[in-house]
Amino acid sequence: MVQNLSKVVAQDQKFLNIINGRQVPALSQETITVLCPSDGLAFTSIPASRAEDVDHAVRAARAAFDNGLWSRMAAVERGRLLTKLGHLIEQNSEELAALESRDTGKPIRQGRADVAAAMRYYEFYGGAADKIHGDTIPFNEGYTALTLREPHGVVAGIIPWNYPMQIMARVVGAALAMGNTLVIKPAEDASLSTIRIGELAIEAGFPDGVLNIVTGYGRDAGAALSAHAGVDYLTFTGSPATGTAIQQAAATNNRGVTMELGGKSPQIVFADADIEKALPVLVNAIIQNGGQTCSAGSRVLIERSIYNDVAGALADRFAKLVAGPHDSDLDLGAMINPAQKRRVEAYVSAATEAGIELVARGTIAGDAPATGYYVSPVLFGSVDPSAVIAQEEVFGPVLSLFSFNDENDAIRLANGTEYGLVAGVWTRDGARQHRVAKRVRAGQVYINAYGAGGGIELPFGGFKKSGHGREKGFEALYDMSATKTIVFRHD
Ligand code: NAP
Ligand code: MG
Repeated sequence: MVQNLSKVVAQDQKFLNIINGRQVPALSQETITVLCPSDGLAFTSIPASRAEDVDHAVRAARAAFDNGLWSRMAAVERGRLLTKLGHLIEQNSEELAALESRDTGKPIRQGRADVAAAMRYYEFYGGAADKIHGDTIPFNEGYTALTLREPHGVVAGIIPWNYPMQIMARVVGAALAMGNTLVIKPAEDASLSTIRIGELAIEAGFPDGVLNIVTGYGRDAGAALSAHAGVDYLTFTGSPATGTAIQQAAATNNRGVTMELGGKSPQIVFADADIEKALPVLVNAIIQNGGQTCSAGSRVLIERSIYNDVAGALADRFAKLVAGPHDSDLDLGAMINPAQKRRVEAYVSAATEAGIELVARGTIAGDAPATGYYVSPVLFGSVDPSAVIAQEEVFGPVLSLFSFNDENDAIRLANGTEYGLVAGVWTRDGARQHRVAKRVRAGQVYINAYGAGGGIELPFGGFKKSGHGREKGFEALYDMSATKTIVFRHD
């Protein structure tokens, strides 16, 4: 156990880029100071990489792909290395949890949950590497036709700050299982766990250049990576605006992309639902990670006859929520950075000024440092579905409640935003469970449950503005590979 979470980074510990199996600073020697969101204090630094560093990393990944050590290695061996990386993560799990928690401000139990999920990704994709295969196709007489699933080549993964260890793991697991090589650009606000896992990958024995990590600002390192002609495929998780910029850059080279761009995910609560079972899940879906979750359940739609009861019960729970430092392990931690805190607060004041009913508000722990980026959780009631707070992704601990009249009304409301990532449906009526699940436009639908961020095995991704392509599960292996058709004539 790490006894003192703030001691997780040793004085002389350096966080560097990983290029071609070596730890290197940015060529410019420039660094970015790393702050802990819980107190706003600096505790280490990362390289401020630019286009030239990205170019080195892409060239290393290209050479590693072209030499075939990785792409032509037996799939079972690639899988074994991924599994080994998972074991090394397990052996270092307390350190990694503490590091993630200090770097992002998330409560330590969430850091631990993220490590456990990361381990599962490496285990899952390690096991899947030799279980994906092509088809044989009935074709003309005198021919045999078959397909192979081949790697794209060099994949770029641009990772956000909310769940860096998990999102890195789903990208690395699927991309490397298929024989691609990788360049990862983590978010400048949360790069430490990515670097540590890169170090563990060296220890595990991945060939040089297979997994490269370049830290830096999105506008420098991220933009250079997404526009690099040496990248064959890109995967991105983050905001729709940055997703558009990355797709435009990728389009200049006509490269394929997977985009996971967040949501405004609804949970629909029908009058016949098991409300006691639903309540803790409804709260957790928006409070987990301080609401900084792409699949956060940020809208709760309640059948009119039970609206007052459910809103009252949620208000009681919200009033008891407390935000505080990561090592205090309270309901939620700080927001990732001052800009995110201001952004969430601006949504809350705009909604309040627009006359939206503030039903309940949590608190900030008395001993939380005033220099931390805390926001107390907010519950808004009877929200107009066309209000800004009902339509836009806040990415903070802000939940909006709506009422509906019947099933059609509920589906109309659920589908009434530009997003379509996840949905929850709470009802005991089996036929209704099927009807609603089919009519809601979301990449994942949970019935009497909600999986904010969870489910390594479950394909995940969006409809509409939430993006395209699928991560997680077996499906990610299809995104991370291309089909090659081979035809033999033998008449
Ligand atoms: P963002 O801009 O989407 O950042 C995500 C990643 O993209 C980071 O690694 C970022 O690098 C990089 N990036 C930024 N600009 C880039 C560019 N021009 N080219 C290539 N890469 C670039 O997200 P943000 O600004 O941190 O947060 C803003 C909002 O995005 C949040 O309030 C939230 O609504 C949403 N968001 C959604 C998710 C999600 O999981 N769906 C995750 C994070 C944020 P740097 O951070 O190092 O600049
Ligand atoms: Mg940080």
